[in-house]
Amino acid sequence: TYVVTDACIRCKYMDCVEVCPVDCFYEGENMLVINPNECIDCGVCEPECPAEAILPDTEGGLEKWLELNTTFSAQWPNI
Ligand code: SF4
Repeated sequence: TYVVTDACIRCKYMDCVEVCPVDCFYEGENMLVINPNECIDCGVCEPECPAEAILPDTEGGLEKWLELNTTFSAQWPNI
């Protein structure tokens, strides 16, 4: 799965949301998150993010962000 990290905080761009083929972005107060259960790992959102906030969880060291994306995508509204 891909995960959204802290570079997204207060970012105003929504380009990632527009390109996601499965609409798995969720909108919180300060940042977006990806639902890891819905993400199909297509990777098209990564180059669209001007803040470079979206990373594949295979990069390592992103456990905290994967957990946050999982938790908040269950609570926040789908966009
Ligand atoms: Fe959506 Fe593809 Fe990005 Fe996953 S990798 S969040 S499916 S655009």
